Amino acid sequence: MRNTIELAERVKHLPPYLFDKIDKLKKQARGKGVDLIDLSIGDPDIPTPVHIVEALKEAAHKPEHHRYPSYEGMPAYREAVARWYKQRFGVSLDAASEVLSLIGSKEGIGHLPLAYVNPGDVVLCPSPGYPVYAIGTMFAGGEVHLMPLLESNGYFPDFSAIPDDVLKRAKLMFLNYPNNPTSALCTEEQFKSAIDLAHKYNFIICHDAAYTEMYYNGKKPMSFLEIDGAKDVGVELHSLSKTYNMTGWRIGFAVGNSDVIFGLGKIKTNLDSGVFQAVQEAAIAALDTNEAALAPLRDTYRARRDILYDGLKSIGLEPMKPDATFYMWTKVPKGYNSESFAVALLEKAGISATPGNGFGAAGEGYIRFALTVDVHRMQEAVERIRKVI
Ligand SMILES: *Cc1c(COP(=O)(O)O)cnc(C)c1O
Repeated sequence: MRNTIELAERVKHLPPYLFDKIDKLKKQARGKGVDLIDLSIGDPDIPTPVHIVEALKEAAHKPEHHRYPSYEGMPAYREAVARWYKQRFGVSLDAASEVLSLIGSKEGIGHLPLAYVNPGDVVLCPSPGYPVYAIGTMFAGGEVHLMPLLESNGYFPDFSAIPDDVLKRAKLMFLNYPNNPTSALCTEEQFKSAIDLAHKYNFIICHDAAYTEMYYNGKKPMSFLEIDGAKDVGVELHSLSKTYNMTGWRIGFAVGNSDVIFGLGKIKTNLDSGVFQAVQEAAIAALDTNEAALAPLRDTYRARRDILYDGLKSIGLEPMKPDATFYMWTKVPKGYNSESFAVALLEKAGISATPGNGFGAAGEGYIRFALTVDVHRMQEAVERIRKVI
């Protein structure tokens, strides 16, 4: 007879993982033979650049890479990160104490609360937002306080709306610009206001910078660490996933405040054994990529963006035109909510997109389209949506 195997409370009480639900609906559609246009997941459809793949091939042959890597990353990788930060943002980093390799930035987000959050501590999380901020908090026993990102506040938290007693218990705040799912950018003044608040209430800021390299109007998004005082209060997490089409490779990094880097490292050294060194070598090749080589990628996304944006506008929808990220945050038409519109798109048009409320209650009334199909499919997607509404 099988034992009764109970899930832990922390797992039982998890909200359903957003993409699980979408995946099930997509599977059903595909099962029925629907020619699905998938605009639901933030995963580039374009392969990793060849010079990065070649660097992996070469590195994979080296026996020294076949042994355990160090959890914090090879010195050469951390130095490449520091070099990239200096050249891209003008920010100086000490490779030994201010840079840590991550198995993708998701890993860093999930583990950071374990290093700093005690039961009863508050973690300030954007809503809508990347789901791992709140889930990492819950795994650590912390209390999530959601900060709504609304059109009316420029998709930046209204700090004056956070009660003083919540701020007093706050240990950590997550921010993410360019933002997933809204694509919003934030200003230097907004970052400054967050740093001032973190000083006043003594909490850590973790800025998730996964999308700083996906921009389309020539104006490069800034790093949180460019702001005076940022390193006194926090860290920035980066990912090679979106910039270099490397989601499957699982590599990213945390940079900034050396105490926070140390704390996150403490967790990692006890839980993981770092990133395959050949992947780190390939990541060095990625970070050393000539800026000019990324221009065609940006052109590709810009062309898709323009087709979807013009198309949705012509149908009477209200998309936000992204200057960065590869997401189009769009109000659902009258008579629908996020979920019913996502279901209608799937069932009537064979298009999967992500309901905004899946990123948090404040995302209700929106849907997120990812720019992850080529211009022809994008044009077809527009025509199919036209028929639904
Ligand atoms: C994709 C994404 C990540 C995760 O990136 P990985 O480095 O692949 O783990 C983190 N944050 C946001 C906002 C993302 O959209």
